Amino acid sequence: MVHRKQILVAVLAAVVTTGLCTTLCKAKEQKVELRRDYNVKPVPFNEVHVNDSFWTPRLETSRKVTIPYAFKKCEETGRIRNFEKAAGLMEGKHEGIYFNDSDVYKVMEGAAYSLQVQPDTMMRLYLDKVVKIMAGAQWEDGYLFTFYSIPKRQPEKLWTNVESIHEQYCVGHMYEGAVAHYQVTGDKAFLDIATKNADLICDVFAEGKRTDPPGHQEIEIGLCKLYRATGDEKYLDQAKFFLDQRGRKGNRGPKGNGGLYGTYSQDHKPVTEQTRALGHSVRAAYLYTGMADVAALTGNMEYVKAIDTIWKDVVDTKLYITGGIGAAGGHEGFGGAYELPNMTAYCETCASIANIFWNHRMFLMHGDAKYLDVLERVLYNAALSGISMKGDRFFYPNPLESTGQHARSPWFGCACCPSNVARFVPSVPGYTYAYKKNDVYVNLFISGDAAIETINNKVKLTQQTQYPWKGRVNISVEPEKNDTFAIYVRIPGWAQNQPVPSDLYKFHKVVNEKVGLKVNGKRVSLNTQKGFACIERKWQKGDTIELNLPMPVRRVIAHPNVKADRDKVALQRGPLVFCLEWPDNDGKILNLVIPDDAKLETEYRPDLLNGVVVITGTARVAKRAMNGDIEPAGKKQFTAIPYYAWAHRGRGRMTVWPARKPQAARPEPADTLTYRSKTTASFVHVSLDAIKDQILPESSSDSSALQLDFWPHKGTTEWLQFEWNQKHEISSVKVYWFDDTGRGGCHVPKSWKVLYRNGEENFKPVDNSTPYRANKDAFNKVTFKPVQTDGIKIEITLQDKWSAGVQEVVIE
Ligand SMILES: [Zn+2]
Repeated sequence: MVHRKQILVAVLAAVVTTGLCTTLCKAKEQKVELRRDYNVKPVPFNEVHVNDSFWTPRLETSRKVTIPYAFKKCEETGRIRNFEKAAGLMEGKHEGIYFNDSDVYKVMEGAAYSLQVQPDTMMRLYLDKVVKIMAGAQWEDGYLFTFYSIPKRQPEKLWTNVESIHEQYCVGHMYEGAVAHYQVTGDKAFLDIATKNADLICDVFAEGKRTDPPGHQEIEIGLCKLYRATGDEKYLDQAKFFLDQRGRKGNRGPKGNGGLYGTYSQDHKPVTEQTRALGHSVRAAYLYTGMADVAALTGNMEYVKAIDTIWKDVVDTKLYITGGIGAAGGHEGFGGAYELPNMTAYCETCASIANIFWNHRMFLMHGDAKYLDVLERVLYNAALSGISMKGDRFFYPNPLESTGQHARSPWFGCACCPSNVARFVPSVPGYTYAYKKNDVYVNLFISGDAAIETINNKVKLTQQTQYPWKGRVNISVEPEKNDTFAIYVRIPGWAQNQPVPSDLYKFHKVVNEKVGLKVNGKRVSLNTQKGFACIERKWQKGDTIELNLPMPVRRVIAHPNVKADRDKVALQRGPLVFCLEWPDNDGKILNLVIPDDAKLETEYRPDLLNGVVVITGTARVAKRAMNGDIEPAGKKQFTAIPYYAWAHRGRGRMTVWPARKPQAARPEPADTLTYRSKTTASFVHVSLDAIKDQILPESSSDSSALQLDFWPHKGTTEWLQFEWNQKHEISSVKVYWFDDTGRGGCHVPKSWKVLYRNGEENFKPVDNSTPYRANKDAFNKVTFKPVQTDGIKIEITLQDKWSAGVQEVVIE
C-alpha cells in the first residue's frame, strides 16, 4: 500500500513545483471532422448547466459521494490492486471476478464527466494516477486485461474464451473512459493506452483471422467513440466488423467454425436479420446501441431496419411500466412477449442505463419524441431506483413488487451496476437538449441553461421548472443573432393520453385537460411534429416560451396479455410511476384494492424522502373467507410514493401494481388453524409466511406466489413447526411442494413425515392411514388417526445434492 501513497505524494509534489495549471489545465482537444453522424446532434452535458431542485442534489451526490465511494470500493475489493500488480508495482494474485477491470474504467468515465462539470483537483489527480498505473500494466503490444496478466503474464491464454471472459467488454469500457478523459483534460495519456489496445484488437480480429464475436457487447460502442475522438476509420470498421460476426455462419473461433453462442448473446442470427429482443438484456441493449452508432456513422440502413423492428418488439411487449427491461433473472434477460412478472422482475440497473443509451440514439437518428418518452420513463423510474438518495447503495435488479426480500446493497462481487450508475448520473444533463442544423430541441425539463451552437447561430435557452413535481416550464430564448429557426419542445406522451408509444399500457380514462403553450405570453397552437411542438418564428433575445403540462394522477392499465398486471392498476403522475410501500401503509399493502372510483389526491411532502409528491386515497381491504372466496373487509387510507424513492426506510412490502379488483389482491388469509399457528422452520429462504398465505401456485415451479425453500441446504433434514395456545383435534396435513428443477436447485423431497406434540418437547410420529407422497403440481395429503395436540411438526428429508421447498401447508 505504501507505494500508492508515494505515487500520490509524488503527483502532489509535482503540482506544488510546477503549478496547478501546467499539470491540470485542459490542453487543446482536436476537433475531428466526420463524414457523417446522427441527423440530430446532442448538446453535450458539459454545455448544459443544471440548476434544478430535483437534479442538482443528485449530480452533487454523484460527484461528492458515488464516484469517490466507487473508487474506494474498487480499491478495497482489489480492482485497482489488480492493475498495480499487472504493472509490477506489487505482487500477488488476481482478485475478484475476471472482468473486474471494467468497473474501474466505468468509474473513471464517470469521474471524467464529473470533472467536466465541476473541476476537482483531488479527483483529477487520482484519475491521472490510475491512468499511470494502467500504462504500466499494458503489454508492449497493447494488450491490457489484468486477469491474464497476474501473477505473471499468460500470453497463451489471450482470446481463448472471448465468449465468457470478457476481455473485449472490459476494453470497450476502457475506450469510453479514455475518450471521456481526453475530452475533459485534453491529455492523451489514457487515450493512447486505448488506441494502442484497439490497434491490437483490429489486428487479431479481422477477416481471414479471428471472426468470432465478443461474448458480451460493449466494445462496439467504445470503438465508435474512439473513431469520433480520433477520426481513424479503422475503429469504426472494427465496430462494424464485430457487429457483422454476430450470428454469422461458419465464423471461426477457438472452438472451431460456427461456434455460435445462441440467443443469450444475440448470436443466433446475423444482426440485420434479428427482429425480436432476446437474451441477456444488457448485452442486447448495448448491441442495439452499437448498431445505431455504426448506422449513423456509416449510413447502413439494414441496421436501422433491424433496430427499428426490435425497438417495436420491446415497446409493444417487453417494457415494464417503470421503463425497466429484462423479465427473468435466470438469464438476466428478456422474457417472452407480455411476460412481465413484478416480484421477480429483473430490470437490471445496467439494462435501464443501456435502454437509455439506445433510446437516445434512436431519437438522434429519427428525431422522434417517442424515444424520449421511453428514455424519460426509464430515467425517472427504473434507472433512478438503482441508486439510493445518499449515493452509496445500489440495486442490481429493480423489482416492481416486494414482500421485504429486497434492499439496496453497498456493493456487489459483480459490480457492473454501481459502476454504471457512477458514470451515468453525471451525464444526465446531456439528454436535455439537441439541435439539427439551426433548429433546437428541448427534450427534458430540467432547470438551468445551455448555450447551443447551431450551424449558424448560438442559442441560449434557460429553463425554469419544478419538474417532475409541477408541469409548468418557462423557457427564455436568447439567440446570438435574431433569426428564423424552429424550437422543438417535447410534449410528453403522458401529457397526451399515451403513457408509452404502444398499446402495452394505457391510461384508464382519457383526460381532456389540454397542454398549454405560450410564446411571449400569447397562446399558440401546439403544431406537433413527431411528438414535439414546433415553434418556428424569428426568434430574438428576450423571447419566452411557457409550457404547461397538466399533471393529474393517472391510472395505468396494462394490456390484457400481461397476466401479472391483470385487474391491477399503476399510478402515474407526470413522468413518475408511483408505488405503495409498507411504512406509509401500516406494513400491509398487497391486500389493498384501489377501486376505479376511489378519489385520488396529491400533496407535496417536503419532509418525506428528500421531498416528494405523494398520492393518497381510500382503498378497500381484501380478505379471504373460510370458504375460500375473496371478499371486501373494510376500508383503509393509502399513500403512494414515487417508485424511485422506495426501499429507503428498511425492508418491507411494496407494489407498483396494487389490485383494482379484489381477485387480484393478496387477500388477508382466512382465520384457519394453519394461519392462526405460530410457525417456525429449521431454515428460511424467501418467505415463511408464504406457506400459509392461502395463495395457491399454478404449479410446483411457480415462484410468483412465493414459497419457503431451504436453499442452499442440500441433502439435509429440515422441519416446519406449527404451534397453538391450546390443543386441537388434527387428522390430516396437506403439503404443496416447491420444485424448480431446470431453473433452480429445488426438487421434491426424498421423504417426509408428520409428528405431533405429545407432552412438553416430545414429538411423536402420527399414525398415518395414507402414504406420504411427494408429487408435483398438487397437494399431497396425508391422513392419520386423529390426535389432540398443540403442536405439529413436519420433518422433511431432502434428496442428495438437492434442496427442497414448500408452497403451501394446510393442517386440518
Ligand atoms: Zn449491472
